[in-house]
Amino acid sequence: MTVTSKAIDFSEFDLVIIGGGCAGLSLTLALLQYNYAGKVLVIERREQYEHDRTWSGWFSQSDLALLTNLSMQTFPGWSISDARHCYCHTSTSHPYYSISSEHFYSYAIQKIHASSNVQLLTGAALSVNDLSAITHSHIIDTVGLGIEITRPRYGLWQSFVGVMVSSSSVLFDVNTQSHATLMSDMSQDENGFYFTYIIPQNPHQALVEVTYFTSKSLTRDYLTERSTHAAQRLVQTKITPSLNDITITAIEYGHLPMWDVVSHQTPRSQTHHHITLAGNISGALRSSSGYGFATIQRWANQTGKALSHTDKLSTKPLLHTRHYSRWVQWMDNILLVVLVRYPKLSSTIFLRMANRLTGSEFAQFMSHRAPLRIWLKVIMAMPKWAFIKAVWWSWLD
Ligand SMILES: Cc1cc2nc3c(=O)[nH]c(=O)nc-3n(C[C@H](O)[C@H](O)[C@H](O)COP(=O)(O)OP(=O)(O)OC[C@H]3O[C@@H](n4cnc5c(N)ncnc54)[C@H](O)[C@@H]3O)c2cc1C
Repeated sequence: MTVTSKAIDFSEFDLVIIGGGCAGLSLTLALLQYNYAGKVLVIERREQYEHDRTWSGWFSQSDLALLTNLSMQTFPGWSISDARHCYCHTSTSHPYYSISSEHFYSYAIQKIHASSNVQLLTGAALSVNDLSAITHSHIIDTVGLGIEITRPRYGLWQSFVGVMVSSSSVLFDVNTQSHATLMSDMSQDENGFYFTYIIPQNPHQALVEVTYFTSKSLTRDYLTERSTHAAQRLVQTKITPSLNDITITAIEYGHLPMWDVVSHQTPRSQTHHHITLAGNISGALRSSSGYGFATIQRWANQTGKALSHTDKLSTKPLLHTRHYSRWVQWMDNILLVVLVRYPKLSSTIFLRMANRLTGSEFAQFMSHRAPLRIWLKVIMAMPKWAFIKAVWWSWLD
């Protein structure tokens, strides 16, 4: 069912959140946690929530403040490899986490149902024209209605299909079950740089994802085929079960921008002074990695707290500054210039970084909590000429 704005009486809501995905539901959780007193409407296009992604990354306890009691997996070890090198990290202080969207959605929906001031309207797709009907409420737009993003010269798509494969045979023993394969079989073909990502779910199940950093629009079918092949290879390497011994239980598709989307988006034609962008469209994804979950959690926590402590709904606490510092953004942009101009260096860059840093340092770097010392280690490990030239190319751009 598609609900048009005419069917909704927006006037009774203080806050309207467009898009009940990661950012929309995380903000809702924060508002509930901080006892926001106003009335909230979350508008979500999909009729029903199903598992559609797995959020992983190095999360601090404060990143997970809104998600207490949510079940998640923890991996104290991870690896990065190509055909000739393999670097394994361990860090019990900074483990890699993995959260199923299925669990996250039902966790948030349960809390919403138990609340008296938040309403979740599913099966309702808003369009940019509907914004003019929302005259009194503050709007958090996690969709970017009416906004287009354009890929700049030094931007790539991170494109992948993750297949959730199950096998009756044991794929992971006790040790390998707590080990995430972040980048394996790193290589290059006519579509760009690619690698395989494997997250064990239990001894019989794993998320297997062939991921491309590419300038092309690769089809979902092609990516599914690539990931299915990788899953079959994974199964073949274990206890030699037959190729038919796998079942694909879920598929997740990603086509994420690896560039600063805030600087490369067309402005909305209609302006609305009570509107704030959030989530991916607000630049929450880190350009160099495509990770955004932890950043969205931090934003949701801060914004929910600020709104709940504001007597009168003011736009001030919502006027969000950029998610990443200028330094992080500049360095990520230089890396993107190198990946675009010297794609053959891609695996060297990630291998050298993994080789030079300890597990904890790597985790801090990836979750943009690295002190200068770690940045210097990364800079020293990089192929110098390519990066010096990249600075030059980025100035010319
Ligand atoms: C498959 C996949 C895997 C990812 N894995 C990771 C990961 O491991 N780690 C990490 O840090 N990041 C990951 N990301 C990146 C990022 O964390 C996610 O994209 C995150 O979900 C972004 O949150 P969001 O709220 O901006 O968008 P979404 O979560 O996509 O939410 C947007 C919501 O808006 C709804 N919607 C769309 N149009 C309308 C409309 N017109 N009206 C109303 N509702 C609408 C959508 O149905 C959706 O529910 C992944 C992304 C994808 C796609």
